[in-house]
Amino acid sequence: MDLFSRKPAHCAVCGAPLKHRHKPKREWNVKGYLCGDCHVTKSTEFYEAKVVQPCVVCGTRYRIADMWEPRWQWDMDGLLCKGCFDKKEVDHKSKKSTCAHCGAQLGFIRYNPKPKWRMEGQLCRKCWDDTKAERG
Ligand SMILES: [Zn+2]
Ligand SMILES: [Zn+2]
Ligand SMILES: [Zn+2]
Repeated sequence: MDLFSRKPAHCAVCGAPLKHRHKPKREWNVKGYLCGDCHVTKSTEFYEAKVVQPCVVCGTRYRIADMWEPRWQWDMDGLLCKGCFDKKEVDHKSKKSTCAHCGAQLGFIRYNPKPKWRMEGQLCRKCWDDTKAERG
């Protein structure tokens, strides 16, 4: 026999006496039962937490469906809004257009380092020649 079963139940969130007990979901981390209103509020909250996320760059919340995954080269976690994604992409491209060795701006003509040099990015003519003279 449960001695407490006759005690009138109250909503665990707002404390209102319960006509209907609504069971909270386990992930809500609520002990006891909820009234109808609080149950709806909680479900919406948790639903939104699943479908809405802040952009990792600007922190504005967006629907996940409207957000972008960072490119793997960016070495980031999380999701970005469209604006931050575009900005990041431009940043990344402009970073790529400088010589990986001396940092000089590269024009249209750029040189890919040989794989055995183990360098990332691209080189200007001079650095490519120098590296080749040094490492073959
Ligand atoms: Zn309630
Ligand atoms: Zn953003
Ligand atoms: Zn260079």
